[in-house]
Amino acid sequence: MKVLIVAKTRMGKGACIGAITEDGKSVRLIPFNDDPHNGANREYEVGDVWEISANPVTDLIPPHIENVVVSEKRRLRTANDLIGSINRFMPPKDGHPCGLFDGLLQSTENGALYIAKQNGVPPYSTTFWQPDQPLIRDTAGKRVRYRYPAENGSCTFTFVGFQEPLEVIPAGTLVRVSLAHWWRPKNNAEERCYAQLSGWFFKEEPERSIKLESPLPQTLHQTPIKVLKDVFGHEQFRPLQEAIISHVLNRHDALIVLPTGSGKSLCYQLPALIFKGLTVVVSPLISLMQDQVMQLQQRDVCAAFLNSTLSHSEYVATMQRVKRRKIQLLYVAPETLLRPEILLMLDESHVACLAIDEAHCISQWGHDFRPEYRQLISVRERFRNAVCVALTATATPRVQQDIKQLLKIQAENEFIASFDRKNLFIGIKLKEEVLKQTLAFLNTHRDESGIIYCQTKKQVESLFRNLVERGISALPYHADLDSETRKQNQEAFINGDTQVIVATIAFGMGIDKEDVRFILHVGLPKEPESYYQEIGRAGRDGHRADCLLLFNYGDADTIKYFIDQGAPSEREGALKRLQTLVDWATSAECRRKGLLAYFGEHYEEQNCGMCDNCCQTEMERVDLTGPARKFLSSVIETKEIFGVEHIINVLLGSKVKKVVKNRHHQLPAYGTGREYNKTQWKHLALQFLQHGLLKRDAQYGSLRLTNDGRAVFRGETQFIGFPVNPIDHITEEPTTSNVTSEKTDSYVHELFEQLRTKRKELADAERVPSFVVFHDRTLREMVAQLPQSVEAFRQVPGVGPVKVKKYADVFLPIICAYCQKTQVDGRKAFQRRKKERSRTYISDPILTTKPRDDSTVAVEITPDVIDREFTQDSFPHRLLTELARSDEDAQALQIGYEMIQEVKK
Ligand code: ADP
Ligand code: ZN
Repeated sequence: MKVLIVAKTRMGKGACIGAITEDGKSVRLIPFNDDPHNGANREYEVGDVWEISANPVTDLIPPHIENVVVSEKRRLRTANDLIGSINRFMPPKDGHPCGLFDGLLQSTENGALYIAKQNGVPPYSTTFWQPDQPLIRDTAGKRVRYRYPAENGSCTFTFVGFQEPLEVIPAGTLVRVSLAHWWRPKNNAEERCYAQLSGWFFKEEPERSIKLESPLPQTLHQTPIKVLKDVFGHEQFRPLQEAIISHVLNRHDALIVLPTGSGKSLCYQLPALIFKGLTVVVSPLISLMQDQVMQLQQRDVCAAFLNSTLSHSEYVATMQRVKRRKIQLLYVAPETLLRPEILLMLDESHVACLAIDEAHCISQWGHDFRPEYRQLISVRERFRNAVCVALTATATPRVQQDIKQLLKIQAENEFIASFDRKNLFIGIKLKEEVLKQTLAFLNTHRDESGIIYCQTKKQVESLFRNLVERGISALPYHADLDSETRKQNQEAFINGDTQVIVATIAFGMGIDKEDVRFILHVGLPKEPESYYQEIGRAGRDGHRADCLLLFNYGDADTIKYFIDQGAPSEREGALKRLQTLVDWATSAECRRKGLLAYFGEHYEEQNCGMCDNCCQTEMERVDLTGPARKFLSSVIETKEIFGVEHIINVLLGSKVKKVVKNRHHQLPAYGTGREYNKTQWKHLALQFLQHGLLKRDAQYGSLRLTNDGRAVFRGETQFIGFPVNPIDHITEEPTTSNVTSEKTDSYVHELFEQLRTKRKELADAERVPSFVVFHDRTLREMVAQLPQSVEAFRQVPGVGPVKVKKYADVFLPIICAYCQKTQVDGRKAFQRRKKERSRTYISDPILTTKPRDDSTVAVEITPDVIDREFTQDSFPHRLLTELARSDEDAQALQIGYEMIQEVKK
């Protein structure tokens, strides 16, 4: 049968439980094999609905005639309307307590109410009452008593409930009164049972009881910086974090636009620990929300999520915890948040903050519009007193405007960080041979982690296999792999067990890995937003990372094809965004400038020094008027209706069908360009396009001359450009990670492996991914700093007090044993590491510098630059001024330059 729990009374270590059955009878639940005094029955909560199998008890001793023995039980849910059910099934008495228990109550001289056995017993032992006077807490005596003030002396009830006692229970409150066991006072023959107060019900909890029931006030009244250190284990705020957090704590709404990896989550997680109420976080990605919750729980933060992955009982249990205010941060999917029972639950839960992650999904102008996000507007209205924090990493000015307007966030309440990721080198190359170009690129990133983005799953599989065949440590990731494999591959990448991940855009959301050193796009993304998001996964540690995009027009055409197949309402916007990306990829302007302009930011610098176009301007230029005129002639002679490929075929004197069929083999331009090969012509054509000699039709890809082009064609102006080299020097034999790792000291490696093994053990025991215990970078820091005391351990970045408590005892012995074995001085290691951490590594396509253990600097020259031409002026000058951030760097670069000159001789 189903029962609704209405009473829970203290009984030794356990509880005495009163319930109402479906047919309105009252029952007391007796555990069948355990004594309630011994801890049984505590799992029931007032307001729960349980399914039970129960047998009536035969030898009933009044007044507890409602006893049933429960043999099996299962919690079903929380009642929707507990007070309503009580009123319906067990209507409360009003007024004076003399009306309770069929008028059988009497009082002792000090006011205690009881029933004397000889006067008969009522047919029930629990009843409800709405006193007409407030019940006042009696502080005298050991036990808590409540006094009902009456004219002829007061009546008192001992309180035996589980709630936190209130000072005053207001008149009219629904309270529960139950009879205790029979008892025979000394010097008195008469058996009595006393009436006890076992709890009360409020439609809405008064403020005071919230405070007392709130389980987690440890961080209340603490300063943000203290919470940052104690809970999150970070030493200081990142740019903007502090300002945002104090703004939010002052209960001002905020639109937060910060690049991926800059620490957005902290902007609501930290205030959530200081706010008195609940912080609701709306997040569209289930795996992300699970990761975040897991990481918070590891830090002893009471966080939970509600989404479709939970079983019914987990779902209900989480709701219960929210209602009982045992949760500080609740993550929900937008569609979950919109469910009526969730909204009602939140109505009762004092929502202090509503954080909307990926807020750009609310805007139709964004690249990732989600209709369910639109309905968040009404949720925001419903919880008008909650602070609303909208967060996103990618929002054009138009989208920012939209978010603010829809969520009613005041214009001035916005925090928009610069989108400029200074440490990312952005380059674009014409796509020629994907595999060769990939290998050449990987060759400049030996032993470094990186992501290769492909357009399709098929492309992922084939490239991944090709790389593995050549000994590169790589794994695939795309939507067709089963979720277990995807998870494993992702983890292997995050933990550094695999060097490269070859993936579709499905990969990367919420990846928290700091040392991603490169992003290679072998296919064109479909809009600047995705491109920016994808490259944003590199270089989160602030060190240099390389982003290379292999571009061709064919990829753009493929995307266009899919846009045409898609929803007509989204077509216009999608085409516009694609065209913007294509224009940007084929422009000769600073890459940073164009990308930032798209996100509404004006880039001031003349030369960013960290993109291919800016770096190229340093290169020597040559007069390319000759080849330009040849190319332009070919375009004109073919009537300006053909694309790059065809024009080049004509210049090269190709006999392909399309040339012959159009009789283009009879044109004057035919075969006039044999001094360059196809690849070289493609590079030239791109330069002509970049410098505006030609315009490419977005629809058909055909080329037309511009006025500038005509001037060059007529010989009125020169065209100066970059010399075309043969395809970038490519080594077919890339070095794999295991070949270069000999650079690492073997014993350092040994400690790292030991710590990793231990971490895996702990993670498996706790059933969480390894990085939840510690990130790789934290382990590396341990290896570098060699902490040997709890205090030193606490100072390792990424540790923090909670993890000190949990893990210091496990990791410190390993480190100490290692130091003893190798006789390394831990304190020296710490000092050296501190110094090192303040330095920057340089990793240019030309050369790489790294601090060595003996505090000198290692310089590595990238093999394929040896063949490139540099003048004394162009190469070192730029590097010295742009890249060198310390004297040591400058010195290293100078040495590097001299080494190149040496090799060239
Ligand atoms: P976002 O949501 O902006 O992509 P996250 O909130 O996931 O970024 O943060 C990225 C990483 O930065 C996380 O590993 C986080 O622990 C770390 N982080 C955030 N704030 C700080 C800080 N003040 N100091 C050090 N690390 C931080
Ligand atoms: Zn630039």
